[in-house]
Amino acid sequence: MGYKILIFTLLMSSFTHRGFSEDMKIVTIDSPLRDVLKKKTEEIRENELGLAREITEKLFLALKPYLPAAGLAAPQIGISKSVFIFSFDRDPKNLEAVINPSFIPVRDTKIEGWEGCFSVMLSNGLWKLAKIPRYEAIQVTYLNLEGEKIEKILEGFGAKVFQHEYDHLEGIENIDREDAIIETFDTKEAMFHFMQQVKKEDSTHYTKPSASL
Ligand SMILES: [Zn+2]
Repeated sequence: MGYKILIFTLLMSSFTHRGFSEDMKIVTIDSPLRDVLKKKTEEIRENELGLAREITEKLFLALKPYLPAAGLAAPQIGISKSVFIFSFDRDPKNLEAVINPSFIPVRDTKIEGWEGCFSVMLSNGLWKLAKIPRYEAIQVTYLNLEGEKIEKILEGFGAKVFQHEYDHLEGIENIDREDAIIETFDTKEAMFHFMQQVKKEDSTHYTKPSASL
């Protein structure tokens, strides 16, 4: 639990004294650094938990201006490692760190839903959202910041976000998936307006993670 408290403290403090602020821009698909978004990430090794914690801090810093938000993956801050943060209900208090994740579907059923991605939404003029079928329930396995193995069942929005962030670790952007239906917007405002509706719809699928079925 110690690191969950650390994360929360980081989230609520101003961070400026840490000197991270300039590096913590989100890498967008039109950025000179964009290649990192297309690369499969490396796993965190047993002796790299300290590095995973550092990456987590940076992810929180990068996401902070956009809270409440669903999640962010290490490649989106230019780091090709298997770490992401996500919240099953967009509540910043429920953001948690996920290291070396894997998942299996609990059942074959998929649900189609719209997804925004900061690496796309914060780009200059590439305003797109993607409608993607995702498994409605998945069993996930990962390490937490203490290096403990966590197993959970995610359903609804949490399952959707986990699969989105997992794709980032595989080097896959939501708009590049073969099963994605893309909506392109003329203005950033139009995209964010649409996204507001998506968030409303998402909020009807907030399901607390459970330990088992
Ligand atoms: Zn994304």
